[in-house]
Amino acid sequence: MTRDDVCNRFEAEVLPHLDVSALRGKDLLCHCAPKRCHCDSIIAKANRNEVAAMIEMLAVIDAPHFHAGIVLWNDTVIEAAPIVGYMKKGKWSRDQVRDYCKRKAWTVSVVHQIERERG
Ligand SMILES: [Zn+2]
Repeated sequence: MTRDDVCNRFEAEVLPHLDVSALRGKDLLCHCAPKRCHCDSIIAKANRNEVAAMIEMLAVIDAPHFHAGIVLWNDTVIEAAPIVGYMKKGKWSRDQVRDYCKRKAWTVSVVHQIERERG
């Protein structure tokens, strides 16, 4: 068996059954580098999962005259208290919410976050 054979078999037969979520956002170093090795596909899978992960987030906006909750699903506002209902209506992204609140000098705090793997 060649190095490629071993890596291909690993990718086809072993990797699909491995939970690599603990490696998310990390680097994996191996003395095989720069030759191909199974570490390459392990870390690639971990990074794919990071992209594919669906994140549900509950945040609270604190303004001088109100406190309002919003729910983001995969970085888009899907629920919002009536006073900030325009964020839901406009399907604001997390960055939009953060920038807007920053301009208004409102505070946004994430109070709860759940990560789900797709599929
Ligand atoms: Zn290696």
